[in-house]
Amino acid sequence: MLRLQIKICARFLRGSLVAASLIAVTSGFIPSVAAQTAAPKLARSQAGFYRMTVGEFEVIALSDGTVPLPVFDLLTNIKPAEIQKFLSDAYVKAPLDTSVNAYLIKPAGNANKLIMVDAGSGELYGPTLNKLVANLKAVGYEPKQITDILLTHIHTDHSGGLMDEKRMIFANAVVHVDKREADYWLNPANRDTSKGDKEQLIRLFLEAAVKVKPYFDSGKVKTFVGDTQLFPGIRSIATPGHTPGHSFYALESKGEKIVFFGDIMHVAEVQFPNPEVTILFDSDSNVAAEQRKRAFADAARNGYLIAPAHVSFPGIGRLRAEGGGYRWIPIPYINDTY
Ligand SMILES: [Zn+2]
Repeated sequence: MLRLQIKICARFLRGSLVAASLIAVTSGFIPSVAAQTAAPKLARSQAGFYRMTVGEFEVIALSDGTVPLPVFDLLTNIKPAEIQKFLSDAYVKAPLDTSVNAYLIKPAGNANKLIMVDAGSGELYGPTLNKLVANLKAVGYEPKQITDILLTHIHTDHSGGLMDEKRMIFANAVVHVDKREADYWLNPANRDTSKGDKEQLIRLFLEAAVKVKPYFDSGKVKTFVGDTQLFPGIRSIATPGHTPGHSFYALESKGEKIVFFGDIMHVAEVQFPNPEVTILFDSDSNVAAEQRKRAFADAARNGYLIAPAHVSFPGIGRLRAEGGGYRWIPIPYINDTY
């Protein structure tokens, strides 16, 4: 049972979706009160960006912070003893410090375009997250300079950073998302017909209304349907399962390729070696597992870079098939300017 109570500011609450009784709801992504109130491991903040190039594009990983995930409460289709074995093998334990990553893309030959993949969590998931804007500023950009945001999906650890309590953070950005994702999360009627934990569904639909709908109402959301070329070198890849309109974004340039994997997985230590393992946040866990196996197999077969949103920052690497599962090979750290 997940216990943390999230109080959402009443000023956020708009329309008939939200009744007063829903102001305090439980969270699916964030961990228990005990984990959230534990003392931070670090006395000062960490460097939260990482630059690299992919062909003619610059890609900058941006950290929104880390959050301790109670993985024994969340992972499904696996026994607790098996989870413990994977964690022990990786020298980690629950709650597992889990990254929330976003990515900035600077297209070649278009100095005015700044594209971001996902938008961080905002204030919704506690004090260890909501670092995205600070890290964006640390690499020299203001939120108003972002021209486009590509949402992998509308879960609010990916979209909560779009708004603060008063305003749009990325006021000049067009938000791109698969039409099926927008149609699902922005229609409260779907909340009552969806399977899954009711409290979690209430929270997620409420947060989508608060964090994403203002952009939609302002004409700032541009939807696409399935695999779509969005910009030169950047296309969406439909990967429904985790959510109804979940999308990857593939960037290809000069023979190099990176695919932003969104929530194809959450717990690297467990789901790379065993992609059959699912998580409570999946809209359809069976389809999500099939997408994961297909995506991992393709990435390992072809050796391109992948960037799953919750792999330890910067969360960019490659996969090798190994022992019925996959081995994660993070990119090497490069810091060679002079
Ligand atoms: Zn998600």
